[in-house]
Amino acid sequence: MTPTRAAATLDPLTIRGDFPILDQTLYGRWPLVYFDNGASTVRPLPVLETMERIERTCFANVHRGNHWLSETASYEYEQARETMRAFVNAADPSEIIFTGGTTASINLVASSWGNSQLNPGDEILLTIADHHSNIVPWQQLAARTGAKIVWYEYEIETGIDASAWSRMIGARTRLAAFPAVSNVLGFHAPVAELTAIARQANVVTLVDAAQHAPHEPLDVQAWNADFTAFSGHKMLGPTGVGILHGRRELLESMQPFLGGGSMIDTVTTDGFTPGRLPARFEAGTPPIVQAIGLAAAAKYLTEIGLDNIFHHEQRLTVMACELLSKVDGLRILGPSQEQRAGIISFIVDGVNAQDLGKMLDLRGVATRAGHHCTMPLHDHLKLRSSLRASFYLYNTESEVQQFGEHLVTAIARLR
Ligand code: PMP
Repeated sequence: MTPTRAAATLDPLTIRGDFPILDQTLYGRWPLVYFDNGASTVRPLPVLETMERIERTCFANVHRGNHWLSETASYEYEQARETMRAFVNAADPSEIIFTGGTTASINLVASSWGNSQLNPGDEILLTIADHHSNIVPWQQLAARTGAKIVWYEYEIETGIDASAWSRMIGARTRLAAFPAVSNVLGFHAPVAELTAIARQANVVTLVDAAQHAPHEPLDVQAWNADFTAFSGHKMLGPTGVGILHGRRELLESMQPFLGGGSMIDTVTTDGFTPGRLPARFEAGTPPIVQAIGLAAAAKYLTEIGLDNIFHHEQRLTVMACELLSKVDGLRILGPSQEQRAGIISFIVDGVNAQDLGKMLDLRGVATRAGHHCTMPLHDHLKLRSSLRASFYLYNTESEVQQFGEHLVTAIARLR
């Protein structure tokens, strides 16, 4: 989606009524300002209530029992799949696999697709800003198969340039993976353009949508990637659950990653035949209550409107960038404020990011200091760490203001 400065049409103060966790005073004095949404978001009452309702009234294992509790839980679980299908506009619910999260989704593809597809000398194209969970599974796959990783290293102010990226695709490239939104630089990748280039070259694509799915509309048919992955806990849902969307023909051609109950059609003493989609990739007891909680989160976000959420975050981001740009010696990493998602990472001359993060915490402001699971990016930028503020639908302009004031005080004390 093209970022704009359009006015927000959601009211964060009303929304905050659904998030009791945010209504806290820290260290006996400071109102909590939660700006670590890129790492994890918190859950609203409708999600908590849905999960409690399932636990209290109809929890049982799914797809196995022929009793009322199990049939009801199975119905709710499959309804959750349908909700997630609609959330990403997938063509069919069988393309929606419940996994443990983005990391689990990517590992699934690296093993189920990669083990049988890659040969020595084949290439996997990654970007230097990828999260470790979109790097390490491919490094492990490369070690297993003799494939090699190729890095697209871009200018951090501009993000992924489609024509420069396309020049990295060669005759041996088999898979290209990239983030839809960088969890550090906050840029948007031109996803549909990149997948179109890759498809023409017969290269399989995986989009890491962990920082996109919670914040703006996601249409997997418009993206036309082979695989898309995201996590529940970054979009108001619970931990331990996420989504892998895969193109049906591709998923059908892949062998299961985990073996066990549910994923089979038949098992004999000689072997097994894998089951149909999506069960083929959901071995064992799935995260039942979590999947239903994730669907409740998706419904909550849809009711508020992903466009509204996006524009609200844009407003906060523009405001925060303007405040930060006035701080002496502070450098924001990544593209200009008009082009970035609601993620701002920065460094301050002469100030350690961890110390700054702790000073902010002591005034109630939760940010994230460190390498944000992007060590190759930080190496590329010749940095050890940075500080990241990331926004969501419940954050307010007044919180951005407080953050700016506390930041200036903290920097003055640390210098
Ligand atoms: N990719 C990106 C871009 C992320 O920001 C994160 C979480 N920080 C992940 C992948 C991993 O997500 P999870 O830990 O939920 O598997």
